[in-house]
Amino acid sequence: MSDVCLFEGYVCARVSHVCDHCTQWIMPGTTYIKSVGVADGDFGMFKCHQDCALAAAAVRSYGDYLPEEFIILHNDASCDDEEWMRKDFPAVADRLFGSKEGTTA
Ligand SMILES: [Zn+2]
Repeated sequence: MSDVCLFEGYVCARVSHVCDHCTQWIMPGTTYIKSVGVADGDFGMFKCHQDCALAAAAVRSYGDYLPEEFIILHNDASCDDEEWMRKDFPAVADRLFGSKEGTTA
């Protein structure tokens, strides 16, 4: 298995994209992170909000992950992560867990 990164960088969205971390919209005009590469023989593209990438790095640092494990927030972040994420990455927490303000029970 050999993974090859063909491109990784900051890109300004010209159209809406779905963030692969939080599954919410990346709106046009927003700078996001785009990665293009080959993993296990499959061509793939990954797009995410900048703060989602930072939150994913934090989830990794708090969790018990192998260096080669790739963290996907909507798969790997649990409700245990919600409290610190609301403090450190409030916008990410709102996208992942829903906004606490303005919600009706
Ligand atoms: Zn996101």
